[in-house]
Amino acid sequence: MKDTLSIGPRRRFWGWGNTADELSVAEQQSVNSTLARLGASAAGVSSPQESDVSLRPSRGAPPATLQAILSGSHYDRLTHSYGKSFADLLRMWQRAVPNPPDWVAFPQDEQGVVDVLDWASRSNVAVIPFGGGTSVCGGVEPAVGDSYTATVSLDLQLLNRVLEIDPISRSARIQAGAFGPDLEAQLKSHGLTMRHYPQSFQFSTLGGWIATRAGGHYATLATHIDDMVQSTRTVTPAGILQTRRLPASGAGPAPDRLIIGSEGTCGVITEAWMRLQTRPRFRASASVTFTDMQRAVACVRMLAQSGLYPTNCRLLDADEVANFHIGDGRSPTLMLGFESADHTVRESMRRALELVAECGGIYDVAAVEASMANDSGIGAGVGARSGAAGEWRDTFIRMPYLRDPMLGRGAILDTFETAVTWDKFDAFYAGVKEGIHRAIKRATGNPGMVSCRFTHVYPDGAAPYFTFAALGSAKADLDQSLAAWCEIKRAANDLVISLGGTSTHHHAVGRDHRSGYEVESAPLFLSALAAAKSALDPHGVMNPGVLIDPLGRKIGLSGVLVR
Ligand SMILES: Cc1cc2nc3c(=O)[nH]c(=O)nc-3n(C[C@H](O)[C@H](O)[C@H](O)COP(=O)(O)OP(=O)(O)OC[C@H]3O[C@@H](n4cnc5c(N)ncnc54)[C@H](O)[C@@H]3O)c2cc1C
Repeated sequence: MKDTLSIGPRRRFWGWGNTADELSVAEQQSVNSTLARLGASAAGVSSPQESDVSLRPSRGAPPATLQAILSGSHYDRLTHSYGKSFADLLRMWQRAVPNPPDWVAFPQDEQGVVDVLDWASRSNVAVIPFGGGTSVCGGVEPAVGDSYTATVSLDLQLLNRVLEIDPISRSARIQAGAFGPDLEAQLKSHGLTMRHYPQSFQFSTLGGWIATRAGGHYATLATHIDDMVQSTRTVTPAGILQTRRLPASGAGPAPDRLIIGSEGTCGVITEAWMRLQTRPRFRASASVTFTDMQRAVACVRMLAQSGLYPTNCRLLDADEVANFHIGDGRSPTLMLGFESADHTVRESMRRALELVAECGGIYDVAAVEASMANDSGIGAGVGARSGAAGEWRDTFIRMPYLRDPMLGRGAILDTFETAVTWDKFDAFYAGVKEGIHRAIKRATGNPGMVSCRFTHVYPDGAAPYFTFAALGSAKADLDQSLAAWCEIKRAANDLVISLGGTSTHHHAVGRDHRSGYEVESAPLFLSALAAAKSALDPHGVMNPGVLIDPLGRKIGLSGVLVR
């Protein structure tokens, strides 16, 4: 008998990807060399098997009418117990799952979602909407305290179709459970694309992107999912909230703005009309090195304020370049790129490179020319992904796979991201790097590695993304690694806020960033948000503990970051 109602390949519950995914020999060597640099011991904890993890018996008594769409199987409950943050995966390696969902629902249509929410509201069951489960901020962990009779993780994966396309307005009605590759494959036959590529693209869903205000791969203009949403349809415990399809509207506060970023706390997004684009044909790219970070940042600011809007404007600092073996391995490097479906981007690149030269940036003219070879739009940009940009892209996609085996050897590897205005940037960058090195030293006794890159740039500021690595425990004691991670993560949460940034630019609030979100949000706004939630979710059953306190339940930070 099947042990899951899930479709598609079997997922790795303790790491990234599918169970069949393997590291290449070169990747294994890269893992070994990072572990050696961190000073990890040869011995470690072996990766967990499903049978290693015992789960408490399911609670609650779902009605017989839901039987066909509810699973209480070990595999389904295990794969819906955590997201994919460092702490989530480490707890899987510890074989520690104290809060599995009691049930996992796989509705086949919108009525199924309505039925689950009806049962939950009537029976005081907490509902955790689940897309791909790639949350990195404690957004899908059913850690809701003990005032609920049961928890149900509501998985949208069967709602995965592009339902309608409007080629005239270039938009599509898409079900929320569609994963990135599935969604793009359905649009491709129409020559269209949504052009939203988060690093987690393969394993995350449209509904998850909207619920978390995800950020795509492109550096400027429409890159946050917010910009691509035309209208949303959400099943809430109080009824269905359908917003109107419009290119824009000045009619009061926008209802979609309440849903985008609601992180499953107000209801379940079942579908959305999304803005699409024609697939790009013209491309140009350049890899630019700088002698120091300050000049590089000044250059990026000029580019961001130039009105050129490069699609790629990813600055890697010297530590990032060294740690990930990009380009010359030592100089701050800017990956610059342009693309268009309509016109050649040669002129934009030419002007951008003038600005680069003014700031002392160095680039290979022949490589830039090669990236624009056949700039007729047909086969254009064959070289666009070669050189440092190509190396970076490949490393970027494979990075999450490389992290997993390091966990069992006592290593801590994690990232955090934020956004800050240009006027504060230099002090912010220096302060965060220094503060994280200090926190790592405090927590582990060594300074570890901290590096930074920009994921997005704006005319008024940048979104820096920090990666840190350290040895949490030389003896691969995972309790010790987790405690050290908690200390570093708390420091990161405090630093980004105190130095003028936001608790998150695109990774969402979840549970792990709530402390910062509560500091950066006006109390009056938080009570208005709680009141809106109360109207949509009168019994407080939707994703309790995520984003804001549910009504009167006083569920604080749960998971591992409890203060
Ligand atoms: C390796 C890695 C790389 C990542 N790269 C990026 C990146 O480049 N950009 C980025 O923005 N994020 C990134 N993330 C974070 C994560 O992928 C995003 O937050 C993503 O949007 C989550 O989508 P999901 O479908 O996996 O949602 P889930 O993780 O399942 O859920 C996330 C939150 O949304 C809620 N939710 C999910 N679906 C619905 C729905 N239909 N209705 C209502 N609420 C819902 C959940 O309850 C939860 O609170 C990355 C994560 C990992 C592990």
